[in-house]
Amino acid sequence: MTETQALKPGATIGILGGGQLGRMLSVAASRLGFVTHIYEPGANPPAGQVADRVTTAAYDDVDALTTFAASVDVITYEFENIPTAALDILESHRPIRPGREALRVSQDRLTEKNFLRDLGLTTAPFADISDQASLDAALAEIGAPAILKTRRFGYDGKGQARIMTLEDAPQALADMAGAPALLEGFIDFSHEVSVIAARGLSGEVACYDPGENVHLDGILHTTKVPAKLTNSQRMDAVLLAAKILNALDYIGVLGVELFVTPQGLVVNEIAPRVHNSGHWTQNGCAVDQFEQHIRAVVGWPLGDGQRHSDVVMENLIGDDMDRVPELAKEADCAIHLYGKADVKPGRKMGHVNRVVRTKA
Ligand code: AMP
Repeated sequence: MTETQALKPGATIGILGGGQLGRMLSVAASRLGFVTHIYEPGANPPAGQVADRVTTAAYDDVDALTTFAASVDVITYEFENIPTAALDILESHRPIRPGREALRVSQDRLTEKNFLRDLGLTTAPFADISDQASLDAALAEIGAPAILKTRRFGYDGKGQARIMTLEDAPQALADMAGAPALLEGFIDFSHEVSVIAARGLSGEVACYDPGENVHLDGILHTTKVPAKLTNSQRMDAVLLAAKILNALDYIGVLGVELFVTPQGLVVNEIAPRVHNSGHWTQNGCAVDQFEQHIRAVVGWPLGDGQRHSDVVMENLIGDDMDRVPELAKEADCAIHLYGKADVKPGRKMGHVNRVVRTKA
């Protein structure tokens, strides 16, 4: 895209999904002078509090999708599980960025694993599972321990069953409730890291420093930068993210989750969107992941992604909200709350970024 094709302030960005990611994308877009329009089936979405317009409608509402698309200049999204039929309608009116290929690949764990393997990247050993016979055959090949995951619609560790010994297999399969599944060999990793990377309309790539992630009960708890990585591993992480972005002809921000092992980095999964493990960039970089994503989808040049501080991001889950008054007393702790009225166990309510300045 040439400079003249880039959207100008005042243009409207349509965002599919009104959760916290949509909210933080809206804030970034309005800081750059854009108008935002959220499409979200649920009532009172967190993003609705900060966006210019909200359409409350289902993803099979053809009229609402058409009217929404006609009201915006470009469409992006905060989650990858958008129904294909909705995408077909939207795409016939306006560009969707990141594009359909990124969604196709990331919506199905099997497609994703094949894509990553074909790119020459290392993944856990995997096999497609449709019934007990295919599971038995895959376990004979891959061995236990292993993890059975639904191919679609998994998040925060949901739709997963661990198979520690072969006896666990029937229950794990039952847990999939008939959904197509993927068996993954268990990776003996020392820790988990993720890379948040962006690619612009003209193909330029900018990567953030990898962050080190700790999960509790399957939900991201903290992300710390810098991550514990050798210089070679850090470079590998950045190079593999760029390889993925180029292969998908990607426009926008992408998250890549990695396992660190003595043999090198193993790719767990990719998310074609801004990512919880990239929230640290809000207080660690001049241009954070949300502004970076908006810059990419409107055809602006990218920020460089360089980090000016060490940061520890901590998610505020459920009752952690009670700690907000105490957290507010910490001078170097930036608080980001999502405006969710109902506190529920396991619900992401906000996060904090504790900043350690590394440069004068
Ligand atoms: P996922 O939903 O694929 O991101 O998995 C959630 C969490 O389960 C990961 O962050 C890991 O801690 C763990 N996990 C997933 N897949 C594997 C694997 N193949 N080997 C070991 N641990 C895994």
